[in-house]
Amino acid sequence: MPQLTVVVPAYNESAVLALFHQRLRKVLDALPLDARVLYVDDGSRDDTWSIIESLVATDPRTGALKLSRNFGKEAALTAGLDAVTADAAVVIDADLQDPPELIPALVEQWQAGYDVVYATRSARQGESGFKRFTAAAFYRSMERLSDTTIPRDTGDFRLLSRRALDALGQLRERQRFMKGLFSWIGYRQTSVQYLRDPRLAGQTKWNYWRLGQLAIEGITSFSTAPLRLATWVGLASAMLAFVYGAWVLIHALRYGDQVRGYPTLMLVILFLGGVQLLALGVIGEYLGRNYAESKQRPLYFVEEQRLPRDPR
Ligand code: UDP
Ligand code: MG
Repeated sequence: MPQLTVVVPAYNESAVLALFHQRLRKVLDALPLDARVLYVDDGSRDDTWSIIESLVATDPRTGALKLSRNFGKEAALTAGLDAVTADAAVVIDADLQDPPELIPALVEQWQAGYDVVYATRSARQGESGFKRFTAAAFYRSMERLSDTTIPRDTGDFRLLSRRALDALGQLRERQRFMKGLFSWIGYRQTSVQYLRDPRLAGQTKWNYWRLGQLAIEGITSFSTAPLRLATWVGLASAMLAFVYGAWVLIHALRYGDQVRGYPTLMLVILFLGGVQLLALGVIGEYLGRNYAESKQRPLYFVEEQRLPRDPR
């Protein structure tokens, strides 16, 4: 029987965990798979860990990791996924915003041959118009700035096949934007639609400050466009400076140096300013390349290969 492990990061989730496990187990028991659950306690400060321990004690197909402190969801997910030995893994939030009932649909696509099956929400309930607007703006700018397309309205709720897990395991960069990494690895990816429910209990750990940081992380780990900005701004202002400088020069030649020293001062300032910004842009370009190298991502993953047979 194929094995499936459901990875659940949990940070201060004592309010929903028992209910979550009950709902998840019901779904998993109906699947023709050897399905296990792996909780990752991300340094919770409430009694999440003791609840997880009691779940592990009563359900033999449940395991758990406890991180030494709160490392953040991305790290908790990585810890969980690293520990998976099954043929596939599902990543799901503990707060029941990702309905466990969708897992069979994800599994179905996996069995149809897909490596990454992500759940896309068709509506965001219980979230303010402003949250929806900022989320949409983020996805749009990501699409424009980065070569990696990150599917819109998609959280971390998804299924990964063995080879997708192996590929992901090779991405050891420190700044981990999981949504980006999931798509970066490639292979056959598809989506399943669902309605996202409002959080059932407990509180979201994301405020706009943390979301903003996540957005910056996403953009800076998947694009060096902000660095290139210096080049363009430098080029544009250098160009404007040269035009204006030429005008100041002609004006001075024709009407004389009325405000003494102004033309030379202006020319020097504009010229140096433009050249400096350009130089910053050049440094930015090299920095961007250095950054890409330091991530040490593998260069490619081979999906299939047909080697020539020995003609004998
Ligand atoms: N989470 C975590 N570590 C953190 C923050 C969150 O493991 O530092 C977990 C949390 O327990 C939940 C999931 O990540 O299972 C999603 O968190 P949350 O519901 O707060 O995010 P939202 O759904 O609002 O995006
Ligand atoms: Mg949530």
